Amino acid sequence: MKNLLEGIEEILLMGPGPSCVPPEVYKALSSKTLGHLDPYFIKIMDEIQIFLQRLMNTKNTLTLPISGTGSAGMEACFVNLIEPKDSVLILKNGVFGVRMEEVATRLGAEVDVIEFEWGTPVIPEKVKEKLYSKSYKIIAMVHAETSTGVKNPVNKISEILKGSNSLFLVDSVTGLGGMEVKVDEWGIDAFYSGSQKCISCPPGLAPISFSEHAYSVISNRKTRVPNWYLDMSLIGQYWQKERKRAYHHTAPINMLYGLYQALMLIFEEGVENVFKRHLENHLLLKEGLEGLGLEMYVEEAYQLPMLNAVSIPDGVDDPKFRQILRNNFKIEIGGGLGPLAGKIWRIGLMGHTARAENVERLLKAMKKALNESS
Ligand SMILES: *Cc1c(COP(=O)(O)O)cnc(C)c1O
Repeated sequence: MKNLLEGIEEILLMGPGPSCVPPEVYKALSSKTLGHLDPYFIKIMDEIQIFLQRLMNTKNTLTLPISGTGSAGMEACFVNLIEPKDSVLILKNGVFGVRMEEVATRLGAEVDVIEFEWGTPVIPEKVKEKLYSKSYKIIAMVHAETSTGVKNPVNKISEILKGSNSLFLVDSVTGLGGMEVKVDEWGIDAFYSGSQKCISCPPGLAPISFSEHAYSVISNRKTRVPNWYLDMSLIGQYWQKERKRAYHHTAPINMLYGLYQALMLIFEEGVENVFKRHLENHLLLKEGLEGLGLEMYVEEAYQLPMLNAVSIPDGVDDPKFRQILRNNFKIEIGGGLGPLAGKIWRIGLMGHTARAENVERLLKAMKKALNESS
């Protein structure tokens, strides 16, 4: 029988995720599978939680990886906190804000949105104004908007929300592991990320964290969480040390080995060094892009180091350009989404991808591909 797996080539993943996976993580994934209640496995779970708390800068005990990708993390945050008719404010400036709106609306929330132009950040003053006229149960925003390459001012919004009773919900699927995240200091009540971006593990897990405030809101719900699989009161019974480790669903054991190893690599390198490496490679990439006559789509002050949106120059065939990179140079970059389709390329420098040799290889390939596609 022909085995398709044998035909998989090594592609340099420089798109919006997944990112390159380090060899140590591949090795970890193939460690022997244990039972999900095995005492040795539980030790690994405890350690993963400690790693995640450190990376998120939180003491929240309800900090754990959800079985599922980043979107499952998003769903888990909204589904546990929203009851029908709850008021939710979403700060939207890209695809993932749109998705938040979709998820919250499906749960029967009354959703208000402040939209900011895609490619520009959330403006704190606009949020402040809105909050003079109305208070919300939940205010949700995306930290690193992967669809546009914009860094949103989570800390500024958190200052506005200080002292209010609103729950602050933040998506840092692309931020966590690549730049500073301070869940406690920023007063974040519900936080989610994903394994395959700056953490550099394959897709399949969504680290999340809920504050004490969020936890008490969940505990005092009038209606049951409408989604059984993502019900935190059940998942918490399996993950939380002080509770009874009750079976809920079989944890994805080997994926959790991968996450454990990926987090360990981050701490061995040193979190500050990891952030610095993302920043330095972002600067190296920008310098090279400038040399090719290309321009960044986002203003410098709001650029994400790990996701670089580049304006596609006039006369360049976008699909053809990316095809050349993929087929001739074995490099994947991302195209634009929604209104930015055909307008930008998205170059990821996430986790293990963020290394100078990769930036240099990409720049050389782009130079050739630009000639061939215009
Ligand atoms: C990738 C991403 C998601 C969704 O994660 P999946 O793993 O694709 O489900 C959500 N939010 C942001 C900001 C992302 O970059």
